[in-house]
Amino acid sequence: MTERPDTIFALSTPPGRGGIAVFRISGPAAGEALAVLSDGQLPPPRQARLVELRRPGDRTPIDRGLVLWFPGPASFTGEDLAELQLHGGRAVVAAAAGALAVLPGLRVAEPGEFTRRAFDNQKLDLAEVEGLADLINAETEAQRRVALGQLGGGLSRVVEDWRRRLVEIAARLEAWIDFPEEDLPAGLEAAIARDLAELCTEMEPYLTADRRGERLRDGLAVTILGAPNVGKSSLLNAIARRDVAIVSDRAGTTRDVIELHLDLGGYPLTLADTAGLRAVEAEGSDEVEVEGMARARGRAETGDLRLVVFDATLDLAAQKETADLVTAKSLVVFNKLDLAPPPERSGFAATAVFAVSAKTGDGLGALLDALAERAEALLGLAGGAPLLTRLRHREALVVCVAALRRAEQAALPELRAEDLRLALRALGRITGRVGVEELLDVVFREFCIGK
Ligand code: GDP
Repeated sequence: MTERPDTIFALSTPPGRGGIAVFRISGPAAGEALAVLSDGQLPPPRQARLVELRRPGDRTPIDRGLVLWFPGPASFTGEDLAELQLHGGRAVVAAAAGALAVLPGLRVAEPGEFTRRAFDNQKLDLAEVEGLADLINAETEAQRRVALGQLGGGLSRVVEDWRRRLVEIAARLEAWIDFPEEDLPAGLEAAIARDLAELCTEMEPYLTADRRGERLRDGLAVTILGAPNVGKSSLLNAIARRDVAIVSDRAGTTRDVIELHLDLGGYPLTLADTAGLRAVEAEGSDEVEVEGMARARGRAETGDLRLVVFDATLDLAAQKETADLVTAKSLVVFNKLDLAPPPERSGFAATAVFAVSAKTGDGLGALLDALAERAEALLGLAGGAPLLTRLRHREALVVCVAALRRAEQAALPELRAEDLRLALRALGRITGRVGVEELLDVVFREFCIGK
């Protein structure tokens, strides 16, 4: 006998004041809870009904609000689910939460628990669950589009199609192993080899080095580099003051790195001002500062793009150390245009050189346009094929493709079959069809309560 699961409830809207606050209640006692709090009756399924919500004991009113009733399995969680839409005041929320908490069989949901139940009841697979988390966290248009696609099963469909074909190949291979030569259709081995090669050719482009999907989730990392006093922080501040969307207050102002999260043309960028790669690292800088600079360097190394800032008032020859920081993935910025023009011949590729004044704002528009262009090139959603948005997708697919390539080379059909099983298991991890127990906690940690 399976145990009757708890019925969980949570405030699904953010805490604090708002127009409305939504509670969700999921589990076998959800219907009873809804009936007790309203007028003893359940509304017709999936239709909003305006009711007076009352405390279970003394029947004093809590609020008037809309209630919805989704009998399982046709609900988000797959269980009986009720939704209360109340006025979004702190006292209303506290009163409703108090009333729900005293009902038998009800308890407050843990973070991600509604979605966990949706997963357990096969309403969403793992990739879709991640899509949901990404959609909630999406800050720019491109992030939203990709997350919505993944939540809608875009990636899952591709992976499941691969799985289905791989299962079929594996089955044919088993037949080859089990049956005597003469009973098998001619050309079976060749057909298996052809289908395997085709699968690999389809999977490999998803592993191309540019990590587009992961970068899109994280935001393109742009590091501002340059000597002290060239105007790096002024540049960051000038960009912050300009009319670009600053997408989050995640900015961590630490000694070493100050971050600005931007939405440029729908693409997320994280612009980081490093503490300055000081030439005087050895002299007069305390340990923290040294650590700060080490991090700045590390960040520049791992970042996607660099803005290397020069001081236009200084001789270029005197800024050799800065020039050494310019790489193929750099935009060169001559700052203090209001004081001096940029050098006529800098020696850098002309398309990557910008003259700006952090003080007057001159030239910033062109620089931001160029950044937006680079972002589009690096993160753009060409063709609309789903992206691998997480390292774990990539890792699973790497294992899968490696196993398939091994299978192609395998000397014995038995070894080939074993490689196919490994490939299948790896693919299954993406959608959570197999071997996922250890992954679940990682995935569900991303959720907060009420989701
Ligand atoms: P950082 O050390 O590279 O971050 O440089 P800061 O942003 O602190 O700037 C150093 C000095 O240069 C400050 O006094 C700024 O006011 C000045 N500064 C920065 N950008 C400009 C600019 O475009 N024009 C002028 N005239 N001064 C600037």
